[in-house]
Amino acid sequence: MPGFRLLPAVDQFLKSDTGQALIASHGRHMVTAALRAELDAARDAIRGGADAQAAADALPARLAAVLDAGSQSRLRPILNLTGTILHTNLGRAILAEDAIAAASSAMAAPLALEFDLDGGGRGQRDDHLRGLLCELTGAEDATIVNNNAAAVLIALNTLAMGRHAIVSRGELIEIGGAFRMPDIMARAGAKLVEVGTTNRTHARDYQGAITPETGLLMKVHTSNYRVEGFTKEVPASELATISRKAGVPLLNDLGSGSLVDLGDYGLRREPTVAQAVTEGADLVTFSGDKLLGGPQAGFIVGRRDLIAAINANPLKRAVRLDKIRIAALEATLRLYRDPDRLTDRLPTLRYLARPKTDIATMARRLAPLVNDLLPDGFHAGTCDCESQIGSGALPTDTLPSAGLRLTGNGGDAPDRLSARLRALPRPVVGHIHDGALILDLRCLDADAVLLTALADL
Ligand SMILES: *Cc1c(COP(=O)(O)O)cnc(C)c1O
Repeated sequence: MPGFRLLPAVDQFLKSDTGQALIASHGRHMVTAALRAELDAARDAIRGGADAQAAADALPARLAAVLDAGSQSRLRPILNLTGTILHTNLGRAILAEDAIAAASSAMAAPLALEFDLDGGGRGQRDDHLRGLLCELTGAEDATIVNNNAAAVLIALNTLAMGRHAIVSRGELIEIGGAFRMPDIMARAGAKLVEVGTTNRTHARDYQGAITPETGLLMKVHTSNYRVEGFTKEVPASELATISRKAGVPLLNDLGSGSLVDLGDYGLRREPTVAQAVTEGADLVTFSGDKLLGGPQAGFIVGRRDLIAAINANPLKRAVRLDKIRIAALEATLRLYRDPDRLTDRLPTLRYLARPKTDIATMARRLAPLVNDLLPDGFHAGTCDCESQIGSGALPTDTLPSAGLRLTGNGGDAPDRLSARLRALPRPVVGHIHDGALILDLRCLDADAVLLTALADL
């Protein structure tokens, strides 16, 4: 086709100023591949009757757009204005500055991960966290794995492989991402023995199910639902008595498992890890990146002989933690030694404890400024809203909060605006409610962060 000669040759384009500038930002390999693809597309368009000069003129801008889009990480930071503090799909807890610093130095240099600096011999990677975990929970011993799902898996596999694990029918949970207690039990090689009913389980139900085949009794925190009405569950302390009498261990899967009393922050009290230990569970499992506010991890704390058995399980090697997270966890756990300053230093608790008045003041300040940044036809006002903790802590409780209510013309305005905000270089994620896009400001650290993100609209 005669129009093709208006298109640049690959070598010629790469040598041009535009080509050189693109190579400087994206590398020769990527620019050449994208250029070839764009040239093919332009030739197809010309064959189809498109204007050759226009196709040639549009080429540099198209190429730059394609390369820019391809170089944007899908893991770039976003603004979580969903109102859910620990959002599993958004990566759960934001780490404390100390933890980030510890993780980055662990990435950048060798460290004594399994090396005893005093004696020069071999050390244990879990030792860095063991002492702190025992100190903070009152447990005899502790071990750490990849996440709480792995903690439950390895605990069941160690204590109940080929044996029975007794659980109340009211606690056979499914958590997002296909974590179902009966399935985990099966994979751990334990035979699930369900007792009681969905709404009521009694001490005698557990007692009647105990046989020589019993490997353990299990209590599971109902993280994402609440059974209300005519209900009965057996408290952990009573289960501990039953299990001790029968000579089988009690495993308490707390899920979120807080190290501090949420009641201190005006929330409903839930048993802390230390309380679960005091109540007599032989093992307690909980997550690193839920209420604890650290990186993804699973903790198992409890009886020394049982922890030793778990550490001796060959699965332990398959679910162990890496040095980066061990370093971040150590720094996070250290913060708990100074509870008075926790809300200043640990983002998860800071967001959780942030008073509504503070958030509402921020919303009033931001509404007119955000309004100016929105595309034509959209409006920003203030609103009251309700935040959630998320990730299986106090599933039915909400925290009074405040935010921005973004509206526009037409029924699809919230969806359209929501898509524009998600497409920003720093995506802003809210939630749609009642015909508006709501930005809950609880997890917004500073006005400027949102204003800078929206300036790209
Ligand atoms: C969240 C949760 C788990 C899984 O923990 P991860 O850290 O997400 O693997 C297990 N059990 C309960 C009760 C939970 O709430």
